[in-house]
Formats: sequence, structure tokens, C-alpha cells
Amino acid sequence: MISRKVIHLPGIALALMVPFLLLSPGGCAVNPATGERQLVLISEQQEISMGRQYDQQVQAQLGLYNDDTWQQYIQQVGGALAARTERPELSWQFRVIDDPTVNAFALPGGYIYVTRGILAGFNSEAELASVLGHEIGHVTARHSVEQISRAQLTQLGLVAGAILSEDFRRYAGLAQMGLQVLFLKFSRDDERQADDLGLRYMARGGYDPSAMPNVFDLLERQSALGGGQRLPEWQSTHPSPANRSQRIREQLAALPAGRNRVNREGYLRRLDGLTYGENPDEGYTIDNVFYHPGMRFRMDFPAGWKVINQRQAVGGINATEDAMVVLTLADAATPDEALRAFFAEEGIERGARYRENYYHFRTTPQRDPSSGTQQFIQGIVGFVTHQDRVFSLLTYALPERWNQVRYEAAGSITSLRPLTESRYLDVSPDRLEVITLDRAMTLADFQGRYPSAVTMEQLAVLNGITPDARLEAGRLVKRIVPGRRPGR
Ligand SMILES: [Zn+2]
Repeated sequence: MISRKVIHLPGIALALMVPFLLLSPGGCAVNPATGERQLVLISEQQEISMGRQYDQQVQAQLGLYNDDTWQQYIQQVGGALAARTERPELSWQFRVIDDPTVNAFALPGGYIYVTRGILAGFNSEAELASVLGHEIGHVTARHSVEQISRAQLTQLGLVAGAILSEDFRRYAGLAQMGLQVLFLKFSRDDERQADDLGLRYMARGGYDPSAMPNVFDLLERQSALGGGQRLPEWQSTHPSPANRSQRIREQLAALPAGRNRVNREGYLRRLDGLTYGENPDEGYTIDNVFYHPGMRFRMDFPAGWKVINQRQAVGGINATEDAMVVLTLADAATPDEALRAFFAEEGIERGARYRENYYHFRTTPQRDPSSGTQQFIQGIVGFVTHQDRVFSLLTYALPERWNQVRYEAAGSITSLRPLTESRYLDVSPDRLEVITLDRAMTLADFQGRYPSAVTMEQLAVLNGITPDARLEAGRLVKRIVPGRRPGR
């Protein structure tokens, strides 16, 4: 999803922030939400400014869902929950990310994100509130701060040994997406604590807490379906959704009665029109050819490589994840100017000309302290003009791997060309539509009458029901209206 503006790749990596952070005073503090003593090396002020910095990266790199109504709604629901926590004074920001995956995550300082993919799966505001409550819990318990503090203690050695220069990182694209913080892994204890706090905040907000186990069921069914759905925050390190569901159900009985806000109908009506799945306007991949209708170009990626499409870069990575192809926009008026700027960077050495505006390069060898050997990265960089914009095309790997991949990698970065065929240009995303049933029917009847771009099983998961469910008259049911895509 490359943006149309000229962009810089942000170079603020967690690792690079470490030395700065270490200078700051810190120590043990009692956490207001959990009542536990915590090792905290950074102040609340630093926590907030760190969150703000990462927030800008998240917005630039993942992109916000372009719908003010949704952004305001999330802020309203999340803000109301956050106001009743032990840290109401933080400037809480809730955002919808324009991403089809099912995910939610939190940054230090009160920045909380949900993807449009997870919003499509919820069947009530109470379900949304349970995920927001969980993420709020990570912030109030200062889990990411604790995590970063721990990372500070262990990463200094790694930073010193990094074989990539900082200048090179700026160009290295995907290897340096700056989003490591999103993938900070919380411990299982942290996750359980965030679940408990989420339940607490839901109850304070008047929501029916039995929505929380529903969400775990949804996540479990969604990950069972697979199909390229990633649930990083909600799956990788987490206790399995089934275990969490069980644990939370046991706690429900102990909660005071009378919390019964669900808002199913209001929430479902909001979902009508939501973009569902990949938005092909911002790029899509068929048989490892990447098409970008908005910017009217196509590019081939090596067979078997994974193609990753982000706002500011499109990348390909090989199966062993040690060779990359990265496409970005260059901040230059001509390929010549971009080439000069690239090779003016410290730590990058120009090699032989590969073809017009393409050169071999390598990074200045640096000693790897673990092996004692000189390490460097090599590859080819090229710049081409397309529709008055200069594109940067970069491929690189360590020398041993480079020798194996260089022909296919070079073929990839020289394959960018204009996209002209209308069947690849005339595309539109799938959309979620909410139907009010005029009579009772089975889900199979529903699928027959209102065909969806997803399977019966996926439709059942989206609606929080089983595929053999009978649906009563007047019920609101989600369907996925197919968009236009080649081969459909
Ligand atoms: Zn979590």
C-alpha cells in the first residue's frame, strides 16, 4: 500500500533507542493497576513520548482506516473505558488500522490500535470493549514499558554487534520497518493480567462481561480457519484462546450482576460498508506478480518468496528469510540524484554497474564480535522513473546467500513496468454488508440468497454462529459482497 507522497523510511529502531533510554533515571515502582512492584527504567513522560513516536510510525507504515465515523467511534468507546482505569490522565488514543488481518495492539503511553479485520469479526460493542479493555490493561499495567526496560538490559550487546550501519538501515526497508515494538512478546502472565484488567474495565463500563469469552472463541475459530490470517498479538505468545475463554468464564460468576450493555444491533449496523480483506486498490499479488492499480505498475517477485505489501514499501522475502527485495519511493527528482544520494551514505560502497541506473553495492565490512569475522551485506540497487516518481529497487543478502539468489533477485528488481490492462486496473475491495432477515432461514439458505465472497464456514465465524444455525426473522446477518478482482 505505497502512499502517493514521497516518503522517507523511518529509522527509529527499538535497538537504536536503547542507549538514550539507559541514560534516564528509573527504578522499581508500584503499579497502580496491578498493585505489583515493577522494574521501570523509564519515566511516565518518556513512556508517553515513546508511544507518540511509535504511533507516528504505525500511522505512516500501516495506515489508518480512512473513515472518520469509525475513528471517532473507537475513540469514544475506548476513551470511556480508559477514563475509568487507574491511569485516566494518559492522553488515550484509539485508532482503526487499515489492515485486513485480525489484530489489536497497544503501545506505551496509551496508544491502542484495532484492525478493520478484527472489527469485522465482532458481533457487538461489548465484544469490541473486551478487546479494547485487554489492550488498555497492557498499558495500565505498563507491560510494554516493563518489556522495553528488560530489553534495554539485554540488547546493548546486540546493538554493538549489529553488522548493519545505521545509514544502511534507512534503506533496508522491511528489515527495518521500525515496528519491532509491535512484536514485543508479552509473557503469558502479562496476558492473563491484561485479560483480568480488561474484564475489570468492561464491568466498570457497564458492559456484559460474558462477551469476552465470545471473543476468544471467535479468535480460536478464526485461527483454526487459517487462510493467511495472522493474529500476532492475540495468538503467538498467548495462552490458547480456549484456555483463556475457560479462565474468564470461571471469573464471570464472581462479578457483580447488572452489567448488561451489549449493543449488538447498533454495532452491526455500523459494520455495513466496512472494507473486508485486502484492498486491491492499494496493491495485490497474483502468482507472485504484484499489481498496484492506484500507481499503475506491476512487478514480479521471485517464485516462492513471500510478498509483503505495506504503506511505504512492498517487499519480498525468501523462504529462509535472509534475502530481500524492497520497493519504495525515493526522495529524489531523478534516478541520477537518487543514486548519488544512496552512494553518498556512509557505510555503502559502490560496485560494478549492473545496467542503466542499477549498481552492485555492499556495506562496509564490520567485525562480527560473535565470530570474529568481517561481515557485510551485498546486493543491487536501482532507481527508475514511473509516472513522474522515482522508485527505489533494492535487493540484498549476506554473501553466501547472495550468490544463490542474485539472478532471480536481479530479475525481480528490474521487472517493474507500467500496468495498462484494464482487468488489473479495474478492481475494488470486498465489502461487509448487513442484511435484516425478512423471514427465518438457515445459514445455507442465506448464502444461497445473498452469496458471499467467503465460505460458509468463514461466514459462520463472522456471524458468531455455527454453519448449521437457524436464523430467526428480523435478525441482522453479515455477508461479504464480492469486489472486482481479475480471475473472478
Ligand atoms: Zn495481549
